[in-house]
Amino acid sequence: MFDALTDRLSGVFDRLSGRGVLSDKDIDEALREVRVALLEADVALPVVREFIAKAKEQATGEAVIRSVRPADQVVKITYDGLVDMLGGEGEPEGLNLSMNPPTVILMAGLQGSGKTTTAGKLALRLGKERKRVLLASLDTRRPAAMEQLATLAKQAGVDSLPIVQGQSAPDIARRALSSAKLQGFDVVILDTAGRTTLDEQMMTEAAEIARIANPSETLLVADSLTGQDAVRTAKAFHERLPLTGLVLTRADGDGRGGAALSMRAVTGLPIKFLGVSEKLEGLDAFDARRVAGRILGQGDVVALVEKAAQEIDAAKAEAMAKKLAKGQFDLDMMAEQLKQMKRMGGMEGLMGLLPGVQKMKKQIAESGVTDKMVDRQAAIISSMTKAERKKPDILQASRKRRIAAGAGVDVADVNRLLKQHRQMADAFKSLSRDGGKGFAKMAGM
Ligand code: GDP
Repeated sequence: MFDALTDRLSGVFDRLSGRGVLSDKDIDEALREVRVALLEADVALPVVREFIAKAKEQATGEAVIRSVRPADQVVKITYDGLVDMLGGEGEPEGLNLSMNPPTVILMAGLQGSGKTTTAGKLALRLGKERKRVLLASLDTRRPAAMEQLATLAKQAGVDSLPIVQGQSAPDIARRALSSAKLQGFDVVILDTAGRTTLDEQMMTEAAEIARIANPSETLLVADSLTGQDAVRTAKAFHERLPLTGLVLTRADGDGRGGAALSMRAVTGLPIKFLGVSEKLEGLDAFDARRVAGRILGQGDVVALVEKAAQEIDAAKAEAMAKKLAKGQFDLDMMAEQLKQMKRMGGMEGLMGLLPGVQKMKKQIAESGVTDKMVDRQAAIISSMTKAERKKPDILQASRKRRIAAGAGVDVADVNRLLKQHRQMADAFKSLSRDGGKGFAKMAGM
């Protein structure tokens, strides 16, 4: 689906790679070409704009790594931008199954989007995970759709709800839920009726079913070959239904792919799966890093730049540990710490790495430290001059006012940050009294 985009981007990178040092103008030009490539691939304009703005910031920021070729850095910046656009670094989200079964999964989408096929694909996947799955079609207007689902259920080796003629969609949903409870199914997949176009009645019915069934997942199935129409469909459904994720079908087709790329940014919904063939096995968990890597076709370059960046992080951490051991802790070091924290996935991500997380998470939540605050703190520090960051003592009222205005915060926020910095500095100082042994331990040296 992304072949044309891949070709265009490789052209851009090839032209850069002949050169040694890249000027700002070179980078600007390359990003302009990346922009055109994305637009030609049919990525929505606001999404492209945001992508380019972030890429520029990253390219001119301090993230320049001397040990890799500048052209490779542009590849990495583009890769990071794509990953971001597609939903971020995290592991594929998969399905959110509720703690007390039966979990309800509601499928929504236009007729022909691949909704019923996807219901069958999910049933097969869950069946392989040893879940007992019940498929139920709520498409009362098309008996053929009900039979299609029953056939798919057989192929997937799961059960389907016996068809009773003349029942309304909400009644079928209720019957599916009570059967599932009585018979001990783990998952019920409800396939709602689709229409060929967006339609009020379809939306009202789907919304009513969502209210009755209280699904853990409400997935919108969209055909990636329909381009920007798929994006518009997703937006319209999202306004009416509490969607939890997207499934993009026909990713095996040769559409331009840009709609798939915009979908996440436009709707804010995670892309959970890609349909990659007509077969029941043809459903891939969506992994932003893998898709971005495939689009760029430059996996080794990305790995190389990442490794170089990690080495720099390690070197920075070591330098910081040495300074701390001497009892030094200025605001630049604090900013670096905040950045490291963000890189590890922010407060949430950091907590996820630690044992006994749940309790910690609660404490963090209660202490009111959030990622937003971390961002604000970083903004305050970056509004200071170099001298101020080295020697916060020189910060008098007028300087604080200037900094607050620059960071878009109140002077009270600046004061709070300075207090926090002092507390951290004191803590580090007392640790360093034992000759830095505490730090050596902290830094793993
Ligand atoms: P529904 O009306 O939304 O329920 O659509 P269907 O599930 O009946 O699918 C319509 C057609 O698209 C069928 O012929 C499917 O085999 C086909 N289809 C569904 N998903 C995919 C996919 O990911 N790739 C390809 N190539 N075909 C698909």
